[in-house]
Amino acid sequence: MIDTILWDVDDTLLDFQKSEACGIYACLAEIGFHGCDDAMLARYSAINRRHWEALERGEMSKPEVLVGRFRCFFETEGIACPDVEAFNCAYERKLGENFFENERSLELCRGLRGRVRQYVVTNGAEQVQRNKLKASGLGACMDGVFISDEIGAEKPTIGFFEHIFAKIGRPESGTCMIVGDSLTSDMRGGNNAGLICCWYNPRGKENHSDVRVDYEIRSIWEVERLLAESGNRQKAEL
Ligand SMILES: [Mg+2]
Repeated sequence: MIDTILWDVDDTLLDFQKSEACGIYACLAEIGFHGCDDAMLARYSAINRRHWEALERGEMSKPEVLVGRFRCFFETEGIACPDVEAFNCAYERKLGENFFENERSLELCRGLRGRVRQYVVTNGAEQVQRNKLKASGLGACMDGVFISDEIGAEKPTIGFFEHIFAKIGRPESGTCMIVGDSLTSDMRGGNNAGLICCWYNPRGKENHSDVRVDYEIRSIWEVERLLAESGNRQKAEL
């Protein structure tokens, strides 16, 4: 029976793409650039994703990712930015302020309280994630919050999960499920840590990797069904 859920945050419980768009538009405007459109934003997203994947493979440090993605973006687009580090700081601040719930996630997590232990497991920047979790109300639904910055290790490394198990106890096989949108960090991390791996894949992307996925869901609300199927039923269902 599944009694513990590890939730990813960005693009799982929260709509990160929306926050990202808000943050980029606002920060570019602050440095006097007003020509950003959806295509440019998509190019930034791709650059950003490539940088985070390099981090997941251990090829880049977090600071290199944060500043490097904007250096690369500005170079590609020919945008003059006087201080890329300051730009990144402003952007991170904006991300913490502008957050958007995904699929009524707050209602879902509130409803699951008392039925499963719920923890946030995220690779985001510490202050940004703390702000978002607090302001969205999601943090208060959780039994704990684990942020890679604080741990000193990232998903998908085993070190990240060992730290968590040292705090919450090592889960028995078949009792702990990680839910997230990323194959490279959430699902690979779940593989490494021996967890049930639930891939949140709302757009029906294909898995061309060797990462094991136990369940694939289009909506985070399908988690309720997976819990019930594992034998974890709501009181009303008994
Ligand atoms: Mg994510």
